[in-house]
Amino acid sequence: MHTTETYGFQTEVKQLLQLMIHALYSNKEIFLRELVSNASDALDKLRFLSVKDDSLVAEDSELRIEIDFDKEAGTLTIRDNGVGMSKEEVVQNLGTIASSGTKRFMEAMESAQKKDANLIGQFGVGFYAAFMVASNVTVKTRRAGLAADEGVIWQSTGEGEYTITPATLPRRGTEIILTLKDDCKEFSDAWKVRSILKKYSEHIAFPIMLPKQAAAVDEADESVVATTPEWEQVNDATALWQKSKSEITQEEYDAFYQSISGDWNKPLTHIHSKVEGNLEYTTLLYVPEQAPFDLWDRDRRYGVKLFVKRVFIMDDAEQLLPSWLRFVRGVVDSADLPLNVSREILQSNAVVDKIRAATVKRIIDHLSAMGKDDAEKYAKFWSAFGQVLKEGVIDDYSNREKIAGLLRFASTTSDEQTVSLADYIARMPEDQKDIYFITAETLTAAKGSPHLEAFRKKGWEVLLLTDRIDEWVVQHLTEFDGKSLKAVNRTDLSEIMGDEKPEVSEAQEGVLKRLKDALADQVSDVKASVRLVDSPACLVLGNQDMAPHMAKIMAQLGQAVPENKPVLEVNVDHAIVNRLSAAEGEQFADWANFLLDQARVAEGSLPKDPAAFVARVNRLLA
Ligand code: ADP
Repeated sequence: MHTTETYGFQTEVKQLLQLMIHALYSNKEIFLRELVSNASDALDKLRFLSVKDDSLVAEDSELRIEIDFDKEAGTLTIRDNGVGMSKEEVVQNLGTIASSGTKRFMEAMESAQKKDANLIGQFGVGFYAAFMVASNVTVKTRRAGLAADEGVIWQSTGEGEYTITPATLPRRGTEIILTLKDDCKEFSDAWKVRSILKKYSEHIAFPIMLPKQAAAVDEADESVVATTPEWEQVNDATALWQKSKSEITQEEYDAFYQSISGDWNKPLTHIHSKVEGNLEYTTLLYVPEQAPFDLWDRDRRYGVKLFVKRVFIMDDAEQLLPSWLRFVRGVVDSADLPLNVSREILQSNAVVDKIRAATVKRIIDHLSAMGKDDAEKYAKFWSAFGQVLKEGVIDDYSNREKIAGLLRFASTTSDEQTVSLADYIARMPEDQKDIYFITAETLTAAKGSPHLEAFRKKGWEVLLLTDRIDEWVVQHLTEFDGKSLKAVNRTDLSEIMGDEKPEVSEAQEGVLKRLKDALADQVSDVKASVRLVDSPACLVLGNQDMAPHMAKIMAQLGQAVPENKPVLEVNVDHAIVNRLSAAEGEQFADWANFLLDQARVAEGSLPKDPAAFVARVNRLLA
């Protein structure tokens, strides 16, 4: 006796199903793309397993996907003879969701103005899309290698529960039967289904079959429908990347990207290359147009699929690209790796290392060319992935200079991040030797820094670095094209100011001395400044000191921050400084601390003791 058991869906799945059933109205047709893609994955997995154990496919070796209809019953069936699922796998895969993807998906949906199901593919919850169009979903599945009576039937209306019934199933693989909702009957129309398959699934690498009488448009003879179907293949079913470039249209490239990435948008660009010779491999890689939702997740999956001689081996082959290229999606197909290659083997494999090194170079060159040829496209790329690319400067020593060439910055001549280091160098006046930058929390803070005053006066450009990662970037990128990168707030300014020395009167000298005494525990020195024009004071760091912006990031991360003793540079001609010569005792101390604190504020930091700062300012104003 086969007994049916009832299970409750995991809470996240329940919520997701509510959304599928009640909130998603546009683009319902993508359920088919998702189910076909799952079927294709199941076939990939089986083909992979059969490399070691060919008995798994022996009885039924023609791997394929069948789409079948029953117009009368109002059902649509998606069938594959792939790897199938055991009972445990069914419960695990079709009742729970493992990743943080759902939560993200729900959030994205809630904030999206138009609730569009298209987003679904990116979130790894595609199966549940079936409930957009079906009032009842039945899954009959049998894991490859298990006996006929170890099949499982899963069934649900999507309202909180599902049932599982053991069953004897003649075939390995999975059959998904959708009882279409009344307003979704169109999906039992062969012509409609065929056009959806053409649109989304043309380059699924397995044959997708439709019943022949259904596939033929003008076949109107009703009596034929009742007979056992002959099948007709509707898709191309070739591995797109194996074709030569000239045979592939832009639409095909785009559609293939969409099918492997789950991204609804078109890719920004693709890089297709075949390498022959010592090593033989093909790569078809894409740069998306928008950052995926999990770009910054630590446990994010990588986007590159590994194939060996056209056999799918694994998703997310993180050994094939470095982490700083984690936004690249696509396929690498190698002829030199063994079919039974595992993640462990990939980790220390000379073939993989070579493919990876060459692929990184190719991507860099491609992006570099894009930066030269198409500024608009590059700007899109940069705003989506620039921050990730910067990690490359830190991580990849051997390509550092080339990656640095891809970077774009805001500067004193551009609020947008459009200035490359090469642009900067090309604009440098004859007497300028180095590349200058300032790091700050915001563009406004950077632009308002007193440290820029001397550079403005001189007409030298300064790069304004305001991304969190920039502090690390400049620690690693100390040179470009033979020029040093220098922080404006650390630099001794003799290069820019020449021998110019501030003229300091005896009275001013006295003020500086008294300031130094008053602030001795907070600054290492007080000096007359050549760099200030309008501001009364600024802080200059020693070469080993941690930049204030960096100190703040470290503090936010809960790290110990070493105490710096910067130099306070004072604009001796400033009105406030003049006033100081008349101040005595307590009042002088107030002025001195005020000067120091406002220099901190100007660089985007807080006064050391905000309450004391306020009290001091009030005393001075009163
Ligand atoms: P994803 O495919 O992104 O992992 P889904 O919600 O679409 O998420 O599917 C969940 C899981 O169910 C899949 O990872 C797979 O293990 C299993 N599954 C779905 N469809 C099939 C199928 N046709 N054959 C075998 N397993 C399947």
